[in-house]
Amino acid sequence: MTNGLRYKGPIYRPPSEAYSLLVQATIGCPWNKCTFCMIYKKGPKFKIRPVEEIKEDLLWAKNNYQYPINAVFFPSGNTIIMKTEDFVEILKYTKKLFPNLKRITIYGSAQYIVKKGLDDLKKIAKAGLSRIHVGLESGDDIILKKVKKGSTQEIQIKAGLLIKKVGIELSEYVVLGLGGKKRTKEHIQETIKTLNKINPDFIRIRTFLPKINTPILEEIKFGEFQILSPHEVLSETYNLIKNLKVTSQITSDHYTNYIGVNGRLPEDRKLMLQTIQKAVKKDESSFREIYIGNQ
Ligand code: SF4
Repeated sequence: MTNGLRYKGPIYRPPSEAYSLLVQATIGCPWNKCTFCMIYKKGPKFKIRPVEEIKEDLLWAKNNYQYPINAVFFPSGNTIIMKTEDFVEILKYTKKLFPNLKRITIYGSAQYIVKKGLDDLKKIAKAGLSRIHVGLESGDDIILKKVKKGSTQEIQIKAGLLIKKVGIELSEYVVLGLGGKKRTKEHIQETIKTLNKINPDFIRIRTFLPKINTPILEEIKFGEFQILSPHEVLSETYNLIKNLKVTSQITSDHYTNYIGVNGRLPEDRKLMLQTIQKAVKKDESSFREIYIGNQ
């Protein structure tokens, strides 16, 4: 029995899950090597919570929350790694407890999605997982290797297509500026190529901001990685939006971005490009400063 929802370590969720019930299914991240990510660098060590504990938390929320629960998000960073039969059990239990649920969502990295494979993903989709948030970050293999993402363009495409094939909504994250000044061109070219092949439901834009306790911060200090200026980031954004041949929702729902670029492709392309062109005319000093983030 529990007297409330139990959380361990940092709890992150996509902005779109701000009103969702958050029940921790896993603790930490099994990968934990990305050089730009500070979330679990100081722990806790990765762990999958026992099914019974997760169920207890779900039941507690059902019995104690007064407001209607419409969506459930299962942190932490890579719940897709749970044993398929356990995750299916959790999904079925969740749907039974909350019959009016509109969405069940998790984070999952491409390499773990590919490892899961088509048959297991079908079971997970059938049991009720409705959306997965994947960190593409970049489509460029050199950048992916440099930031130790643990995947390649090929793996990212394979994972994205698998998710789409089983009918789970796919949300892909892109980090503008992740190639620094050296690979800005390749970063955008390869990211466009990757996203065009996947055609995800959502493309979520983030802007690279160095964070405390991250290896990439050391590279910046030694001059090996140079952060893009606001105008350079806007140029990446422009090229991305201009060249994507997808039918995706574009969302820049994050504090790191210099401007909000939101809309559906292809129909809102012109409007989004106009928004970026307008922003480029502003002096760089009018945008947020580059600072070291701590969250
Ligand atoms: S970015 Fe995601 S996969 Fe990479 S270390 Fe952070 S939580 Fe783990």
